[in-house]
Amino acid sequence: MIIAIDGPAGAGKGTLAARLAEHFELAKLDTGLLYRAVGMKVVRAGGDPEDEILATTMAEGLTTADMEADGLRTEQAGSAASKVSVFPGVRSALLEFQRNFAANPPGDAKGAILDGRDIGTVVCPDANAKFYITAGVEVRAMRRYKELMWRVGEADYERVLEDMKIRDARDQGRDASPLQAAGDACQIDTSGMDADTVFDTALDFVSAKA
Ligand code: C5P
Repeated sequence: MIIAIDGPAGAGKGTLAARLAEHFELAKLDTGLLYRAVGMKVVRAGGDPEDEILATTMAEGLTTADMEADGLRTEQAGSAASKVSVFPGVRSALLEFQRNFAANPPGDAKGAILDGRDIGTVVCPDANAKFYITAGVEVRAMRRYKELMWRVGEADYERVLEDMKIRDARDQGRDASPLQAAGDACQIDTSGMDADTVFDTALDFVSAKA
């Protein structure tokens, strides 16, 4: 079984992916982490994430150690990720890794679940079930703000909101695999929903497909 989850930052993709992975015994890949690792590799090398040649070279040479580096969950990494992810060379360098994970999930998993921006549209167009998870930008920014307060102890809501709007526009407006719902995706707006309700809705959709 392969499940694809797409949607903008802070919509609740990661939470849903973790719960579905546990329920169906699937291996989970957070594909945003790959783009974050490329972005931070460029930054650590003293480069500019908007430098296409450097970003592509870094993506082509990405290692497991890069994917486990510190700081990949920071806002700086998210912003660098969204800059490097517009380049077709970066995307194609990461495509094979993602498809290979879906086709050969590690361990004795019964399948794979991938979350990102182009999983249902490009990476796994034949996935058994596809979701497009979204929520209002203010709701998503507030979730991210609370997470930062909890994790780092300080954050600026207006700044988080502004960064999120910039990232949404870049992800939706790029030519290479822009963020969009697959035609056959189950769309869930999580703005007024708790995690249990989102999970139950998703489970109903997967069951109806089986
Ligand atoms: O999901 P996350 O916030 O970690 O993703 C960071 C950035 O990586 C996104 O804003 C997006 O630009 C990029 N990304 C992508 N395609 C994916 C996953 C992430 O372009 N499949």
